[in-house]
Amino acid sequence: MSVLVYTESDQGTFKKGALEVASYAKAVANQLGTTVTAVAINANDTSKLGNYGVDKVLNISKDALQSFNAKLYADTLKQSAEKEGAQIIILSSSADSKYLAPLLAVGLNAGYASNVIETPSSTSPLTVKRNAFTNKAFETTQINTDVKIIGVSSNAFGLVETSGNASEENFEPSIAESNITVESVDKVTDKVTIADADIVVSGGRGLKGPENWGMIEELANILGAATACSKPVSDLGWRPHGEHVGQTGKPVASNLYIAIGISGAIQHLAGVSASKVKVVINTDSEAPFFKAADYGVVGDAFTVVPQLIDKLKAFKAQE
Ligand code: FAD
Repeated sequence: MSVLVYTESDQGTFKKGALEVASYAKAVANQLGTTVTAVAINANDTSKLGNYGVDKVLNISKDALQSFNAKLYADTLKQSAEKEGAQIIILSSSADSKYLAPLLAVGLNAGYASNVIETPSSTSPLTVKRNAFTNKAFETTQINTDVKIIGVSSNAFGLVETSGNASEENFEPSIAESNITVESVDKVTDKVTIADADIVVSGGRGLKGPENWGMIEELANILGAATACSKPVSDLGWRPHGEHVGQTGKPVASNLYIAIGISGAIQHLAGVSASKVKVVINTDSEAPFFKAADYGVVGDAFTVVPQLIDKLKAFKAQE
């Protein structure tokens, strides 16, 4: 019995979340005294998985799986789990994994706990802690089925590097013909996505207008960060809707979230509070965001952000 982990890739390259769930799977496997098998679908180079605790890689190369299709991916994972006799299957909290997990659960007659934030407190019965209500509450869940699926919340566990080597086995699942064929996928941007970003730089209505986003973009570029915004900013058309974060927008669970000219309304905080470190830049010392912040700068964004950019550039030049 091994722990099976689905290591997602994007155009052949493993996502950060894949390495996090591999690290998490290793911790669970250690609790159970077993090994980790990763399922890698159309990945270019699987060798790095060994550095995140994976003992064996099931390498699947198939044209039919070139684009994500929840049904086909769930079938593939089901066959992989059955082949390995896996009783615990670990997935990330990406949109794709959340889409396929219930299908996989039905296929394997398994219990599925999503948004899990810690390794199991008990392995018999398997008991996990999950976040609920956009991080405002936690719940403890037991999974009592034979096969168990755990969806790990982004950035809840982090990356744990080891010096291991993973063995590799090619696996050919039998895939039914799909009714849907994706002809092509055109990425809108090559920028870091909010879901994958370690750092997110986010701007609010305090930035006055779209013409002032140059400094937000520049700060994000220097930090290798994704850009985000508050809801009114996207509603006003200052920024694309894909950047809207919060309760009704994308959730953010980055290591660092920098909020510039954002008041910190409850609906905004609901979506970003899972971030580890929150830095707030705001002219109003009474802005609610300061209560949720780890670091705060009371100041004008148009003065503070250019200074921050200059400091970071000087720091990078010394490296
Ligand atoms: P404002 O509230 O206008 O705040 C601007 C801030 O900028 C102020 O704190 C001000 O002090 C500061 N500021 C001004 N000038 C400067 C300067 N020069 N330098 C630095 N700071 C400056 N909002 C979201 O963001 N995400 C959501 O998902 C979301 N969902 C919602 C769902 C519902 C059902 C409802 C009712 C609302 C939702 N909202 C959401 C809206 C939310 O309630 C707030 O209205 C919104 O978050 C405010 O955006 P803001 O902070 O950019 O703007």
